[in-house]
Amino acid sequence: MRRRLAMALMVLAGLSLAVPEAGARRRRRPKVRKAKCDSLRYGCVGKSPKYYDKLVRKIYRPAKGQDRACLKRLRAAGIKFHLLAGVKGVKTPVLILSRRLGRVLYRKSWSNKRRFILDCQMVEVLAAMGSEIRRAGIASIYYSSSWRYSIIKGSRRLSKHAYGKALDITAVDGAFGYASVIRHYERGKWGCGSRNKTPKGKAWRAFYCALKKRNAFRMIFTPDTDRIHRDHFHVDGPNWRIRIKPRPKRRRRRRRRY
Ligand SMILES: [Zn+2]
Repeated sequence: MRRRLAMALMVLAGLSLAVPEAGARRRRRPKVRKAKCDSLRYGCVGKSPKYYDKLVRKIYRPAKGQDRACLKRLRAAGIKFHLLAGVKGVKTPVLILSRRLGRVLYRKSWSNKRRFILDCQMVEVLAAMGSEIRRAGIASIYYSSSWRYSIIKGSRRLSKHAYGKALDITAVDGAFGYASVIRHYERGKWGCGSRNKTPKGKAWRAFYCALKKRNAFRMIFTPDTDRIHRDHFHVDGPNWRIRIKPRPKRRRRRRRRY
């Protein structure tokens, strides 16, 4: 009898011990859905930017609420693009097919595997700024992020990339050679190039000033801004007053008759 009682007590003790342990184990591994955000540079809105990429589709006529006038101006300027829908956050998304915008060549940086999608207004300002950028001595722009549905790191605000109104520029080239932000930008040298020591550092400041003088973008972040921008220029908020001019029509030469 006594043995049975002891057994029963042991079983009860075992149960009472087992129950809190299971609870503790559950507490140790909380079920938190981790957002698949593979970057240290930006935060994600629940899902990774790749998820939103899948929703993008091509359309043939402007959808309701899209900026038809802007699309018309792009076409008149000879810029080739696909009109898109399903680009989260972007009002008038276009996939840019032209390699040049305003005589400046746009090239993907080596790590950029994504499509070149921007809002129409952003494309218009980049193209309209072409001649100024060329005058600053820049022939090509290497870009990394264009449209990307994400939030600013350490905040809850959507990045301007989510609206398709921002571009990250990692390098440029021209007569000075190839200049990347990380290797050739000279930090703490203000002005438009007169204070720089190297031709490449000078090119970066000339580029900065070309954009700043026409007030092309609301924000231009450089390595002088913070550590996150140590390897790229971030430009965002295109100035809606800047309009692209239509491409001049080529006059057909009359063939001379002999
Ligand atoms: Zn950026």
